[in-house]
Amino acid sequence: MLEQDDNTRLFYEMICRFLEREADPYYPEWEAAGQVPRDFWLKLGEAGMLAIDLPEEYGGTAADFAITQLVLEEISRRGFGGLASAYNIHANIVIPYLEHLANEEQKQQWLPRMATGAVMSAIAMTEPGAGSDLANIKTRAVKVVDGWLLSGSKIFITNGMIADMVIVCAKTDPAAGAKGMSLFLVDAHLPGFSRGKPIQKIGQHASDTAELFFEQMLLPANALLGEEGAGFAYLMQELPRERLGVGAQALGAMEGALALTLAYVKERSAFGQPIASFQNTRFKLAEVRAQIDMARAYFNHCLTLYRQKRMTSTDAAILKLQLTEMQCQTIDQCLQLFGGYGYTLDYPISRFYVDARVQTIYAGTSEIMKEVIARSMLGK
Ligand SMILES: Cc1cc2nc3c(=O)[nH]c(=O)nc-3n(C[C@H](O)[C@H](O)[C@H](O)COP(=O)(O)OP(=O)(O)OC[C@H]3O[C@@H](n4cnc5c(N)ncnc54)[C@H](O)[C@@H]3O)c2cc1C
Repeated sequence: MLEQDDNTRLFYEMICRFLEREADPYYPEWEAAGQVPRDFWLKLGEAGMLAIDLPEEYGGTAADFAITQLVLEEISRRGFGGLASAYNIHANIVIPYLEHLANEEQKQQWLPRMATGAVMSAIAMTEPGAGSDLANIKTRAVKVVDGWLLSGSKIFITNGMIADMVIVCAKTDPAAGAKGMSLFLVDAHLPGFSRGKPIQKIGQHASDTAELFFEQMLLPANALLGEEGAGFAYLMQELPRERLGVGAQALGAMEGALALTLAYVKERSAFGQPIASFQNTRFKLAEVRAQIDMARAYFNHCLTLYRQKRMTSTDAAILKLQLTEMQCQTIDQCLQLFGGYGYTLDYPISRFYVDARVQTIYAGTSEIMKEVIARSMLGK
């Protein structure tokens, strides 16, 4: 956990009480339903936990941005990987995009309702033909007299089924490559917007993942977020925070999985002794503890860099690569110590395992992270 001052400690205790009361009893239902109900988002909003570091004038709580990461960590520690991803998108990614890039009218239009949960959000970059190769997207926005005409489709959009507003990445000048890309604040209730069926995933069931379609959708002129043609640069600028959030999810999940495993190995016996007494068990648990502590040190270093506006895309790539790969490995080792029970749905360690798998894929795959790191040393 973060180094905690009194304020952070109070906030942390509040988060724990809130999740214990409002999420713990219902999480299995949300996993079965494939999404978190709006009612829960409204309660999070009411508790001041949806826009933690947003200024009060836009409905935020005006606390430290690291507390948003702490919420992500705590949600993940409880084994709620799907909820963590949905929260990361809305509270830790889309709200900061608007805070940093939107004009005053756009901020007033969206932020106060996003802070209460009345408006839920998503961000849509990936397309069926372009994931890692984002510069190759085909969704097109054409300037018309009264705004923009948006056409195309997106895939794998977290919160896509529940979102009222989606930041959509589209080409405004296809001949200009990455410099021909712009971002739009798309009101999902306008004509021309539609959603496919929820995509069925192996884990993170409580987070809905959707395909979105835009058919000659007329957007008002004020839907453009920031400058025309600067979309790709904005995505790069905001990536460190997105990857900090994914890192917080990894840390929380590793802590949660380790706690479950520690309890289990003390209870379970084989060959007349607790499995905790086998040297293999002790060594595996020691390795996991040591890895988590190393990961936390780098994570805290990145928090400091981000606060000082010095966190680079290479720092973010190292953080995302190391913490998510470590999450998959350590949780796999924890599950192994549960034997056959670890493979059943009755033991929550299995949910930690399936929820972890996508962490090395979304928000930039591990291979792309390695490319970013290599480029920082070797150039193109
Ligand atoms: C549950 C889930 C939620 C998601 N949420 C969102 C969301 O909210 N918004 C959004 O826009 N997207 C979202 N995504 C999409 C996600 O970001 C992409 O799936 C991811 O970026 C990879 O793109 P792709 O699936 O097209 O894979 P591809 O780009 O086709 O990659 C396939 C494989 O090739 C490798 N590869 C590609 N290029 C290179 C290279 N240059 N060098 C080496 N290897 C390479 C990749 O690493 C990967 O292993 C989500 C995905 C999932 C599964």
